[in-house]
Amino acid sequence: MESIRNFSIIAHVDHGKSTLADRLMELCGAIDKNKSQAQALDSMELERERGITIKSQTVRLSWRDETGKEWIFNLLDTPGHVDFSYEVSRALAACESVLLLVDACQGVEAQTLAHLWKAVEYDHVIIPVFNKIDLPAADVERVTAELEETSGLHSEHALTISAKTGEGVAAIAPLLVKHMPPPQGDPHAPLQALVVDSWYDSYLGAVALVCIKAGVLERHHRIRFMASQAEAEVEKLGFFTPRKQEANQLQCGEIGFLVTGIKNIALMRVGDTVTSVKEPASQPLAGFKPLRQVVFCGMFPHDADDYDHLKEALGRLSLNDASFSWQAEHSAALGHGFRCGFLGLLHLEIIAERLLREFNLEIITTPPSVVYHVIGKDGQRQPLHNPSAMPNISAIAHIEEPWIEATIVVSQDHIGGVLDLCASRRGEQIRLSWSGKRAIAVWRLPLAEVVYDFHDQLKSVSRGFASFDYEMKGFATADIVVVSILLNGERVDALSFMSHRQYAERRGRKMCERLKAIIPRQLFAVPIQAAIGGRIIARETLSAMRKDVTAKCYGGDITRKRKLLEKQKAGKKRMKRFGSIDLPSEAFFAVLKDDK
Ligand code: GDP
Ligand code: MG
Repeated sequence: MESIRNFSIIAHVDHGKSTLADRLMELCGAIDKNKSQAQALDSMELERERGITIKSQTVRLSWRDETGKEWIFNLLDTPGHVDFSYEVSRALAACESVLLLVDACQGVEAQTLAHLWKAVEYDHVIIPVFNKIDLPAADVERVTAELEETSGLHSEHALTISAKTGEGVAAIAPLLVKHMPPPQGDPHAPLQALVVDSWYDSYLGAVALVCIKAGVLERHHRIRFMASQAEAEVEKLGFFTPRKQEANQLQCGEIGFLVTGIKNIALMRVGDTVTSVKEPASQPLAGFKPLRQVVFCGMFPHDADDYDHLKEALGRLSLNDASFSWQAEHSAALGHGFRCGFLGLLHLEIIAERLLREFNLEIITTPPSVVYHVIGKDGQRQPLHNPSAMPNISAIAHIEEPWIEATIVVSQDHIGGVLDLCASRRGEQIRLSWSGKRAIAVWRLPLAEVVYDFHDQLKSVSRGFASFDYEMKGFATADIVVVSILLNGERVDALSFMSHRQYAERRGRKMCERLKAIIPRQLFAVPIQAAIGGRIIARETLSAMRKDVTAKCYGGDITRKRKLLEKQKAGKKRMKRFGSIDLPSEAFFAVLKDDK
């Protein structure tokens, strides 16, 4: 154990974490400099394209110091987006120290701080690493001062590197050995292994990444996942170097993969504790949290014939991602589909994109909703994330909504706009502090006001310079109503949404205006209305129009006419019929986005 160093690189997105991981792997001879694809740890195609790490990965590296002694480094890569903060916290729980990577041009950002505070909670040794010093805009002195001022973190061991050119990277290994502690834990105690991640591998099947906190994990032994209660025999063990390398045991302090007969990764949840069936630990490791899906929406196949294909695709995707859920649902407007739950809005977008890209499925998503708690007159608490499932008003005592604590870092030029934005979202300021010309605003906000377009708005008021991170902070009573949308007098269930009463009218009106702009004119006038219960709160009227677009073409250019007719036909295919109205599928997402 004495020669092991388990560490994570934590950083704001794009500060160079994956690039640094590549350099460290090259330094330890784990990957060939000439053959390596950039960012070897970002394994999924989508991650590579979006440049974000969705699932955490780990790699075991071997390094020899100048005396020839061999050291084992376990580098835990962490997911880089706010939706996956629980996964980050488990990766941190598995290691003893962190490299805090900060872009020396950009400086401290919201996720730098959010991750740093988590690492401090775990009492980790933290070594600041200032990256991108090859760029002329790099200003290590300013960023060092900024880090000290914002976090109180002072370290004489700070490093300056360029992950891109490799400059300074060689100094990291000796520093890890000298200043970072080895893992602790009793190798003779009953087995306790922390599940850091789990996924589905096409060769291995369901795989758990585990960190051995006590005892030893051996092949052919029977083990139990303490939270899910699933039992199985250990079939395979090993490490990623980053190539798969099998082993007969994982010893105390080591991090590696575990394959059992279990097929379902939902039984190998991140944060669970693995113990031995024969000699079980008396207690699981601290910190297990049940799944936290915070955003729900309906997903419907655009073409009803694709229902089975969608069902199969969702099944395949959830093999690899136990953090999203799906359940059959029926909508009068959209037919058969699924109610799906996600860790956040980005998570939702990733799944929707994968359905399109990997399964060639065009889907319609309904307005996303947070999970409300409905407290009945009988005192019962029920989660609610679907407007159509709202119980009768007479049975409800009150409704509670989820709140978050948001950290936003922005320059002084843009702080005004950021504060206005937060205030307009029913937010409450907790703290506003300064570091030089940069402000750190900490606000309590209702999650419902953040899920749709907060990121987009934040970007626009700060010209893209604000960074944002959040944490869930419980539930509070709120006045929530269901706003329904009527087209030509018919309720379109898939367009209804839940809203705070204060914003219901404004949102309803906006929705009607936007629908009016999006819905093509019909042969007759169409009223578009928003209602709370039986009360109409907004109305627009779409006036009638002739449908033959070629009427507008003068002259005799027949090919142009044909092209227009073809275009019109293709347009029709993308329409969904609602009673007497054709509605383009884009309507569903478009109407809720960009809610200024
Ligand atoms: P991550 O999101 O933290 O994993 O960041 P990446 O490793 O994906 O890097 C984000 C971008 O910054 C990529 O385009 C990298 O090529 C670039 N980058 C990373 N390190 C350096 C560096 O030291 N210098 C320069 N100039 N660019 C870098
Ligand atoms: Mg990355």
